[in-house]
Amino acid sequence: MTRQSRPPSALTIAGSDSGGGAGIQADLKTFAAHGVHGLSAIAALTAQHTRGVTSVHVPPVEFLRAQIDACFDDFDIGAVKLGMLANADVIHAVADALEAYKPRFIVLDPVMVATSGAKLLEDDALDALRTRLLPLASILTPNIPEAELLVGSPIVDADSAMQAIRALLAMGAKALLLKGGHLDEGDMVVDRYADAEAEVALMHARLPLEAHGTGCTLASAIAANLCIGLSMQEAAREASDYVERALRLGYRPGRGEVVVLDHF
Ligand code: PLP
Repeated sequence: MTRQSRPPSALTIAGSDSGGGAGIQADLKTFAAHGVHGLSAIAALTAQHTRGVTSVHVPPVEFLRAQIDACFDDFDIGAVKLGMLANADVIHAVADALEAYKPRFIVLDPVMVATSGAKLLEDDALDALRTRLLPLASILTPNIPEAELLVGSPIVDADSAMQAIRALLAMGAKALLLKGGHLDEGDMVVDRYADAEAEVALMHARLPLEAHGTGCTLASAIAANLCIGLSMQEAAREASDYVERALRLGYRPGRGEVVVLDHF
């Protein structure tokens, strides 16, 4: 038996995690859990397990473009999720492709450093990310350290978080979800959604665990939700809830302490 109806498709342009917890692997699991067909263009490959990244390989940008072209040639792509892009050359190649194909939605997860401390974006690529990708993004999903680097000032509390959000909107982000996991706000983790009209705090109880792949999963869940027709604010809210549920069901697949999300 084959199913004849065509599900919506989402494309992730991101890095591969050989340990299966983050990156492309988390994105495809998230798409599948939302009933969305997952496409992938692999911008970087990491040799990685639950204790860290041991090596990174960046394929030629021409090959990345070939993967993106193959996807746009054949599928009706509802949303594109951007994750680990490694360096400025890759960012320029991705921006060129997105400017050519103009997908309906672009979710930009400005991946810079892994929780383990591994660097996933070259230092000199920040400017390219700011000038080429931020203006194309429908929504930006930084964590606190990434937002600090993008705006150039520290985020230490709710007030400085709101200032950073306004600065990012002023830099051209149409909407953003600032992930609160790195900020100490007592028992709660507060993800802050904002666009030109709304500012919404999405709150969950802090879970006592060290997790891996939460950022990738959040951004790909937003992309999947946009594909299936949710508004931007609803897509962000549902994605924040999804990550919290997947974390509660999380498990430790390797020898490290780190918990990987279960995509139920
Ligand atoms: N590896 C890849 C390929 C990623 O894209 C990311 C995050 O985006 C990570 C690792 C880091 O994940 P985490 O910071 O959740 O450990």
